[in-house]
Amino acid sequence: MPQRQRQRYSSLALEHAARPLLLLVQHLTGLDTTFLTRIDWNALTQQVILVEGPLHLPIEEGPVVNWSDSMCRVLFDANISYSDSVPSTFPGSAGAALGMQTFFAIPVLSEGQTIGTLCGASTESVHIQQHTLTSLKLIADAMAYQLALDQQMQLQQKRVKVAEKTIDKLYQQAQQMETLAHTDALTGLDNRRAFQAKFEQYQLQSEMQGTALALMMIDIDEFKQLNDQHGHEAGDLALQQLGSVLSAVARQSDIACRLGGDEFVLAAADTDTQGLLHLAERVQQQFKQQMRQSGLESSLSIGIASTAESALDQLLPRADQALYRAKELGRDRVELAC
Ligand code: GH3
Ligand code: MG
Repeated sequence: MPQRQRQRYSSLALEHAARPLLLLVQHLTGLDTTFLTRIDWNALTQQVILVEGPLHLPIEEGPVVNWSDSMCRVLFDANISYSDSVPSTFPGSAGAALGMQTFFAIPVLSEGQTIGTLCGASTESVHIQQHTLTSLKLIADAMAYQLALDQQMQLQQKRVKVAEKTIDKLYQQAQQMETLAHTDALTGLDNRRAFQAKFEQYQLQSEMQGTALALMMIDIDEFKQLNDQHGHEAGDLALQQLGSVLSAVARQSDIACRLGGDEFVLAAADTDTQGLLHLAERVQQQFKQQMRQSGLESSLSIGIASTAESALDQLLPRADQALYRAKELGRDRVELAC
C-alpha cells in the first residue's frame, strides 16, 4: 500500500535540526509531549509546526490558533516559563481544557523578537528544575537560527507566488490591450488598423496566387438623422446590429471591419462580384429586419469592387466611389464599381 505523505509545516532542514532537540527536551524534562511553534505577529496567530511524543495530549502539527487563545501567552503574561499545576493556576485556559497538568513555554528569539516557542506538556504533574529551564533556553536558542531561516523561506515563497500572480495578470492585461488595439470596442469587429494589416496580406496573396479579391463598403443611410431623432443610444444599437449581421454572414476567411463612424467594410478572398452582391443584399435585409425588431427604420448603401474590374490597389477607392453612387441614386441600394 502506498504510504500517505505527511503534511509538512516546516522545512526539511528545520525538521532535521529540531526533532532531535525535541527528543532531548523530553529526556531532560521527563515530559510526554514537546513541540515547536511559530508566531505570526502580523496575523497575531500561533501554529504548532513540530510535535514529538505519544498522543496523550491532543496536540497536532498544523493547527493555527489566535495568539489571544495561546497557552504560551498565558504563561508569558504571568511572567513565568512553566507551571506544574495548570488547571488550578490557570483554570479556563486552553492548556487546562486540553488536559495539561504541566506546561512550559520558552521563547525562540531571533534578533530580539520572539518568532516561536519551544514547549512541553504532560497530563502528569512534573517538576522542572531551574537548571533544566536554563538548558531549555539554550536549546531554544539552538533552534532559533533554523526557525528564522524557515520563516525567511516561507516569506520568499509567498513573494514568488505574488510575483507569479502579478506576471499572470500583466500578461492577461497585455493580451487584452493587444486585442483592444485591433478591435472596435462598440461592435467587436476589426478596427481600421487591423483591417489595413490584414487587407495588405490579402492583396499580396491575391497578387501572388492570381486569386480574386472583392470588397464591399457599407454605410448606414441618414445615420445622423437616426441619432438626432432617437438618440445616440439608438445610433450605437444600429452600429452594433450591423456589426452582428456582418459577423454572422462573414466566413472565417473574410475580414469584417468598422472603418469608423457608420462606415464598415467586408473583404472576401476567392470571391467574385456576383458572390459579394448576394452577400450585400443579405446584409441589407438582415440589418433592416433587426432594426425593425428594435422599432427603428434604417437602411444601408453598399458599394462593391472586385479584382474582376479594378486594380488590386484601387479596390478600396473604387468601392468607395460605388458607395457614393449608391447614395446619390437614392440610398438603400447596392452599386458595383465599373
Ligand atoms: P448618409 O446617408 O449620407 O451616410 O448620411 P449620414 O447621416 O449617415 O451621414 P454620415 O455618414 O456622414 O453620418 C455619420 C454620423 O455618424 C455622424 C456621427 O454623429 C455619427 N457617429 C459616428 N460615430 C458614432 C458612434 O460611435 N455612435 C453613434 N451613435 N453615432 C456615431
Ligand atoms: Mg452614413
